[in-house]
Amino acid sequence: MPDSAIFCPLCLKNNAMRVGSLAAAEIVESFRANFAIDTSPYFAGIETVHICECRLTGYRYFTPLNLGANAQLYEELGTRPWYYESNKWEFSTVDQYVQTGTRVLEVGCGNGALYKAISATKDIDYTGLELTAHNGTEVRIIQETIEEHAEREIRYDAVCAFQVLEHVADVHSFLTACIGCLAANAPLIIGVPNNAGYVGLSQNALNMPPHHMGLWKKYSLERLPKVFPEIRHVATLFDPTTHPGLSDAPVIEHFYRKWLIPKAMTFKFLHAFILPRWVRSKTVVAVFRKREPK
Ligand SMILES: [Zn+2]
Repeated sequence: MPDSAIFCPLCLKNNAMRVGSLAAAEIVESFRANFAIDTSPYFAGIETVHICECRLTGYRYFTPLNLGANAQLYEELGTRPWYYESNKWEFSTVDQYVQTGTRVLEVGCGNGALYKAISATKDIDYTGLELTAHNGTEVRIIQETIEEHAEREIRYDAVCAFQVLEHVADVHSFLTACIGCLAANAPLIIGVPNNAGYVGLSQNALNMPPHHMGLWKKYSLERLPKVFPEIRHVATLFDPTTHPGLSDAPVIEHFYRKWLIPKAMTFKFLHAFILPRWVRSKTVVAVFRKREPK
C-alpha cells in the first residue's frame, strides 16, 4: 500500500503516513514482564504494529485498527491499585466549565470519581458511561457506549472524557457521538496522556496496543475542529507535574551522554530553562465548545 493511501480513523480519509513500527512479540513480552498479563491473543497472526500519522491533524494511531483491548484487560488492570486514580488533576479543569444545576456527562467514568470531585462544591446532575462494571457506587452510571447513549438524544451542558480517547480506535465515531450529546455552546472537555511529554518518550507497554490505540498531544487535539467544524477550540491545559520518570526517557539520556553533564545538574537545568510545561506534563486537556446552530 503506498504511504499516502493509509486510512485515517479520525478524518476518515486516506491521507495518513507510516511514522514507526513495533514488533508485536516485543509488545507482548513487555506486557508480560511488566504486568504479568498475556496479550498474545490480540496479536494472533500479526508480526508488526505500525504507527501512522494523519496529515490533516497530526493524530498518531496504531494499526491494525482492531487491536483494542476487551473488557477483560481493563478488569485485570483495574485490580491494580494504581489503575483508577480517585483524584486526577484533570478533574480540577472541569470546575470553571460546569455550573450548579447543570447536566454533566462523563464518558468512561470508572467508578464516578469525577462526580465525587465536583459534587464537593457543586450540585450537578451527573451521568457516567462505563463499560467495565464498577460495584458499590452511588453515582448514576450506565453501562453503554457513547454511540448508544447518543441515540437517546439527551443534550448535556458539559461532556467530559478523561483518559478514554487514547483507548479508542474508532475515534471519529466516538467524537461524533460526544459532540451529538452537547447542548449549543456546551463544553467538550477531553483529557489524554500527553505524548509530547515523557509519556511519549518512554517505551511503556501501557502506551501501546491493546491498551492504547492513539497517541495524542496538544497539536492533534487542537486540530479536531478541522474534522468536526461543529466545535471550536477554547483552551488547552497541562498538568503541573514534573514526572521523575522523565529522566529515564531516551531523548534525555542522549542529552546526558552527549554533553557528559552530571545527571542531577542536567535534570535541574532542563526543568528550569529548557522544557516548557507542555513537554513536562503527563496529561493534556483540551476544551472545545459546540457552535451555536446557524
Ligand atoms: Zn486524519
